[in-house]
Amino acid sequence: MRIASALLAATITVAEAVAAAPPLEPGVSRELARWRARHYADVRYALDVTVAAPVEKLAGSLEIRVRLRGKPVDIVLDWRPPDAGALSGVDVNGRAIAKPHVVREHLVIPARDLRSGENVIELRFESPIATAGTAVTLYRDREDGSEYVYSLFVPSDASTVFPCFDQPDLKARFALALEVPAAWEAVSNAPAAETTARGATKRVRFRETEPISTYLLAFAAGPFETLDEREDGVAPQPEARLWVRKSRLERARREAYEMFLLHRQALGFFTEYFGFPFPFPKHDLVLVPEFPYGGMEHAGATFLREESVLFPFQPSASDRLRRAQLLFHETSHQWFGNLVTMRWFDDLWLKEGFANFMAAKATEQLLPEHSAWNAFHQLKVAAYRTDATRGTTPIWQRLPNLSAAKSAYGNIVYSKAPGVLHQAEFYLGEDAFRRAVQAFVHTHAYGAADWNDLVRAFEAASGRKLGAWANAWVKRRGMPTVEAKWDVDGARRIKRFVLSQSDALRGDGLWPMRTELLVAGNGAAQTVPVVLNGRTATVPELVGQPAPRYVFANHGDHAYGRFLLDDTSRAAVIADLAGVPDPFLRALLADALWDEVRDARLAPLAYIDLALRQARSETDELTVASLVGRAHTAFRWYLSDAQRAAAAPRVEAALADGMANAPETGVRITYFRTFVGAATTEDARRTLKALLAGTREVPGVALSSRERFRVIERLLALGDPEAGALLTAQAQADPSDEGRRYAYAVAAARPEPEVKWRRFLAFLDDASLAESWVEESLAPFNTVEHEQWTLPFLETALEQLPHLRRTRKIFFVDHWLAAFLGGQRSQEAVTTTKRFLREARLDPDLRRKVLEHLDGLERTVRIRAAFAGPAPSEPRVSRRPMRRRSRRAKRPRT
Ligand SMILES: [Zn+2]
Repeated sequence: MRIASALLAATITVAEAVAAAPPLEPGVSRELARWRARHYADVRYALDVTVAAPVEKLAGSLEIRVRLRGKPVDIVLDWRPPDAGALSGVDVNGRAIAKPHVVREHLVIPARDLRSGENVIELRFESPIATAGTAVTLYRDREDGSEYVYSLFVPSDASTVFPCFDQPDLKARFALALEVPAAWEAVSNAPAAETTARGATKRVRFRETEPISTYLLAFAAGPFETLDEREDGVAPQPEARLWVRKSRLERARREAYEMFLLHRQALGFFTEYFGFPFPFPKHDLVLVPEFPYGGMEHAGATFLREESVLFPFQPSASDRLRRAQLLFHETSHQWFGNLVTMRWFDDLWLKEGFANFMAAKATEQLLPEHSAWNAFHQLKVAAYRTDATRGTTPIWQRLPNLSAAKSAYGNIVYSKAPGVLHQAEFYLGEDAFRRAVQAFVHTHAYGAADWNDLVRAFEAASGRKLGAWANAWVKRRGMPTVEAKWDVDGARRIKRFVLSQSDALRGDGLWPMRTELLVAGNGAAQTVPVVLNGRTATVPELVGQPAPRYVFANHGDHAYGRFLLDDTSRAAVIADLAGVPDPFLRALLADALWDEVRDARLAPLAYIDLALRQARSETDELTVASLVGRAHTAFRWYLSDAQRAAAAPRVEAALADGMANAPETGVRITYFRTFVGAATTEDARRTLKALLAGTREVPGVALSSRERFRVIERLLALGDPEAGALLTAQAQADPSDEGRRYAYAVAAARPEPEVKWRRFLAFLDDASLAESWVEESLAPFNTVEHEQWTLPFLETALEQLPHLRRTRKIFFVDHWLAAFLGGQRSQEAVTTTKRFLREARLDPDLRRKVLEHLDGLERTVRIRAAFAGPAPSEPRVSRRPMRRRSRRAKRPRT
């Protein structure tokens, strides 16, 4: 009886709640999404779309079928048309709606026009296609005059193209038909079912998809060529093809075998790991020129940035590894992301964390010649950089509206989340972890889930209560600082050994973890596993043992946090590093020393010398890249001008020696790239020009056009008198699409205020400038040696953030901030940014992004204050006139 009345009460509450949709606001609110997921079901879209030449718009008809679960309620579709978007011919259940009700980016069909059960809405729509700023992008191949279009809807841009329920958990079946010029090919999520010629055009009808989220719907069309892996007559499942624009067919042929092989191996690995077959009927790999990210895992049709696959330079081993991992990452998404989707973008980490963690696991098994966990560690380092800042977030990020979803993308989701999953596996054990993952995938196949579902699966598989563990790692921001302390007796034997943790952001956070201590004595080192669930843990196993030379508290890199070296250990690690036999441990220790530099406890000059010396004896390309990369950062950012001038000859000599004499080609490539970045002296400029002229070479390395442009960029930045002529010559030598883009980008490195001004105005105002061209230009524009010319743009660049978040693709704001703040070294830049944060009315997500990127600049200033002498050189800046002009720069667009 009590149960019955409780049920009745619940029913009444639901019945009352169905009366109306939540108040509508622009974008997709969490509340609206929840409400729709409760009331709508069985969504199907039939999209019939035409892309006609000249390519300016996409026009089509749409039929949406949606079942209302109970009494009729309003149907609220998301419709965020850009300027040229239009809607017409709206018809609901066969009845025309004369004046469609569009309110705050939603098309609302009132309940009175609807019925219980299935409803059918038909309409026609138009939306623009442009080279930048639209969800369907046009790419013009200037080499052969071809045009290509592709869609990119993540996170919620499908609703800028056609009305839809633009939330990840209202999965739908899509039946897409594309009418395109007759010479074009078209690819989408599902296999093509039928192609009909219609004179100058043709219509490609695709099969209906499995239930997928709107952000995973995609198509691309143009005079593509395809490569098929079935040349030997075997028909592997799922079918896979490589799509490439026709002017890159030959290049693609050279890479196709390795791509297909890795892809096929990855499919096998993931099918076995997840215990679930590939969830879609085929998997196309579509190479998209100037695609804004490495890849996007559209269900059954992964889009990959063409340059990430068809290298525009001679690749090093690490470049090949990165490409393989990109492919593994996107392929694993077909299960984690596409088959099981996060319910809301607050759980973005579920798919991105898993994709990067699974890419590491696949690498470990499929590419044993690479150090998978060294690469994984480098990934985690990016997360530590963010997690140490006041701009950091928990990996689960509160997201009231999808309008801020782009800000959820960043190091925490891509680098911390996989690190936490790695720790989860170590904490729970590999078997329990895998059983949980398989159960999670099976339970939520073709549906949506959130992190609580995953934690429940972990608990069921391990038989452990994980509430506190999950809350700390998923919902708390920041990370632990872990320190080891020990006391010794008169015979220098350990009396007591304690591992302790504190909150790196000086809060009171605690993170339950399992880690492995490395205790190095005068003889062999030993490892001791420790569970640290509270503030401290004692390690009784070590009592009575001789005092260690040094201790490192994250051997094997299973745990996540800051693992500090105490004073004794720091000195011993500096002395012993070269003699540590395990290459992965050497990499971890070198990294711990770099943290000491970043915390202003170790002089950057000391690190530069140590890193360059250590790099000579390393053979793992990743470790060499990390060592010389950090030496490069310390050299250009952390030294005073006087220190840099004094150190330059020996830094350049060490890098030049590596690029000439390192035994592995990939390592020589790594040295070469670093030498180009660090070149400062007249002598180094002569070397760069000799490399361009071919009178000097990097043995075994043919300089690509990409690299020649990089060399010229550095010469331009240094004000070399011959650089302008070299740029003109290289631009003439390489008239390809990429060559035009590089030429445009590197010209931003000219040390001339007028050039910077013109370029900055173009970033803001030139609507025809492709996003990839702007992105490519950001680093040369913000060359750190030009800080006196770029500082005046900083404030306006910051003021642009809300506009950039709205109009640019996902990672653009991060790249923009990294470039503009990363191009500064002065206290004045810190002051400008802090004043902006005080005065601007900025959304919290953007404020956090600024704080995140400001941290690196503040560290630079601190390190220079500590080690670069009493009066670090400050750029001389005339702010006033520049600010006036910057105001003009942000006039409203017409
Ligand atoms: Zn991903």
